Amino acid sequence: MENVIIIGSGPAGLTAAIYTARASLQPLLIEGPQPGGQLTQTTDIENFPGFAEPVGGFDLMMNMRQQAERMGVRLVMDELLSCDLSATPKRLQLASGGALEARTVIIATGASARYLGLASEELLKGHGVSGCATCDGAFYRGKRVAVVGGGDTAMEDALYLSRIVSHVTLIHRRDKFRASPVMADRVLNNGKITVVWNSAVAEVLDVAQSRVTGLRLRHVSTGQLSEIPVDGLFLAVGHTPNTTPFRGQITLDPDGYIVAERTRTNISGVYAAGDVQDRTYRQAITAAGTGCMAALEAERYLTELG
Ligand code: FAD
Ligand code: NAP
Repeated sequence: MENVIIIGSGPAGLTAAIYTARASLQPLLIEGPQPGGQLTQTTDIENFPGFAEPVGGFDLMMNMRQQAERMGVRLVMDELLSCDLSATPKRLQLASGGALEARTVIIATGASARYLGLASEELLKGHGVSGCATCDGAFYRGKRVAVVGGGDTAMEDALYLSRIVSHVTLIHRRDKFRASPVMADRVLNNGKITVVWNSAVAEVLDVAQSRVTGLRLRHVSTGQLSEIPVDGLFLAVGHTPNTTPFRGQITLDPDGYIVAERTRTNISGVYAAGDVQDRTYRQAITAAGTGCMAALEAERYLTELG
């Protein structure tokens, strides 16, 4: 039986692993479907302390992973399918078919990119529709693309794509960005980006051709339809917490985020860290911070158990 199993290998999971390893708890970490987490999809990180110059998201996460390995953390390439957290010990069922038991569990499964839910979008995924600009942007060199969203990810994606493509149309459903002012200003001052306000994508064209040729847009207040020609569509409409394996096991809020107080969930010995329990800040540094908190909470709990 394990002392601590950490689920997820983003900044929250790896920080929890580093702390619990230093406390000699021999943690086991399940990396999940996206080793290194969301930051591996992005380029320059400018707001993670400790780097005088911007650091690549992938590089930052590989450094964290190596730090965890150096501390003796055991990293397992697998995914949690289901669990029984009310049992003693807690039982975890993995996608590979394996099963694990642990005294404490730290959930750090983060969040995943959301899509609009249009039939045409679903049919053209991988054929011009993408949820990751940094992964797929290079395929659109010299072409026209659209980005949907008004948060920091949409700004970052639009700016990143503007360095590769011929033109970016940024489509937002309101008349004001949610993004931080510094990011929004960079977009508004970029000559290769046009913002279409108060608009939603009604249909991605053209399913019949099995590739993206344009978008049908709907003005949200007038309902007026229009079309723009584009070769690619990038969604940046937020994320959904990865809590499917915990449904019915642990208290979630109506949007599926884990309800946690100082990383403690409603189940003793089960802690949640990072974006999976954070609908407000959702930053790498806050994820790492709560990973540390969860590790210290788990350590105290195990000491009390004796
Ligand atoms: P994540 O990074 O989401 O990692 C979740 C982990 O859980 C993954 O390893 C995944 O494989 C694993 N997992 C999921 N389901 C399972 C399962 N069933 N079983 C096992 N493992 C599972 N923040 C900043 O501070 N600065 C930035 O510049 C910045 N840029 C960003 C750019 C983009 C494009 C995006 C999308 C986000 C950005 N963020 C940035 C936000 C930042 O990436 C997140 O806040 C942070 O990664 C959250 O860390 P986390 O550890 O909670 O989860
Ligand atoms: P977000 O802040 O939740 O923004 C999502 C955006 O998508 C919002 O503008 C939202 O519109 C829009 N949207 C949601 N559903 C939609 C739909 N169905 N149709 C059309 N538009 C829709 O998500 P995010 O931009 O991914 O950012 C997540 C977190 O990561 C934030 O905390 C952010 O600060 C952080 N982040 C930081 C950086 C950085 O610091 N450089 C970079 C990227 C991300 P409304 O505004 O109308 O709700």
